[in-house]
Amino acid sequence: MAEGAADNDTWRQEAVQMQKDNPELTTAQIAEKKKGELVKPEKGSGGYSKEARHESPVQSSVKDLPYRIAPIPGKGLGLIATRQISRGELIVEESPVLMERQGFMGFSQIQEQFDQLEASVQDQIMDLHDKNAPDGNGKTLLGGVGSSNGALCLVISRANHSCINNCYHGWVDGRERLFCDADIASGEEICTNYIQWHLTTDQRQRELQTQFGFACDCPACMQAESLQKKHDAIRLKIGQLDQSIPELYPMPSKAVALVEQVLSLYEKLGRPIPYVAEVRHCYDAFQLSLSERNIPAAKRWIQRAYAASLITDGPSSPQALRFERFVKNPLSRLQDGLCI
Ligand SMILES: [Zn+2]
Repeated sequence: MAEGAADNDTWRQEAVQMQKDNPELTTAQIAEKKKGELVKPEKGSGGYSKEARHESPVQSSVKDLPYRIAPIPGKGLGLIATRQISRGELIVEESPVLMERQGFMGFSQIQEQFDQLEASVQDQIMDLHDKNAPDGNGKTLLGGVGSSNGALCLVISRANHSCINNCYHGWVDGRERLFCDADIASGEEICTNYIQWHLTTDQRQRELQTQFGFACDCPACMQAESLQKKHDAIRLKIGQLDQSIPELYPMPSKAVALVEQVLSLYEKLGRPIPYVAEVRHCYDAFQLSLSERNIPAAKRWIQRAYAASLITDGPSSPQALRFERFVKNPLSRLQDGLCI
């Protein structure tokens, strides 16, 4: 999950509870009672940007939009592919319309941001699903501001969840990117993943119910029990091996072998390796190979990590540029001070 999500969730629950306990208080009075401070994030942390707030809400670097927002049976609205989308394509990149500080949200500042938005954008925000809305009290801005990293992007917030997602989202330099992780057919729903990959069907259902308030009926959750058990075992194994890799850092060859095993397991779930997993694991293997001065292997791994980072972060991102430097000269990683 996104950093700070748990703290923000706690804050929201407290604020919504306060609203229930004190119906005479306005949201502004509640905000006053729960004073918080909106702070500027560190560069690249994806936090609130004053500049971003004044941009047109849906900023997309994708010219020919490959999606439309449409009703999805049982899910409200969602994103539907308007054409075939290939793995690796950027679907949309946008700036947040609202952004809370990491860790503790200052509602008064969120209200200020909200008040400055055009009425049509405000309507779109309030139209989003609000799992924290108090019963019988309609929607609240307190609950409605709920997205990864404590920010709200109008298009990407429409992407529904699937445990066998065909796209994924991430933050790069204060903007959120949604990219295709597995080929999507025209007319298919574009779904991202809200939770960790390494959970069994039961664990995922509990997590989604607790955090997001819905029961998942994605193809992975609805498949035959025998296949479900087989895939649950693979997911658990991926999680266990992933945790074991750092323990093997003193034995780089063994750790790299585990990386290879983890990557091959993803494919046994009937889908390509998620790009974010590829970036992380291949970069790990690059550093491990480098620590053994196995330069040919280090080159192969960093080329793979770099190729995946072009998808997850984009070619001009700090991470892709850094990896590009290592592709040209793997040993330059040692100058940065290799520490595994
Ligand atoms: Zn599911």
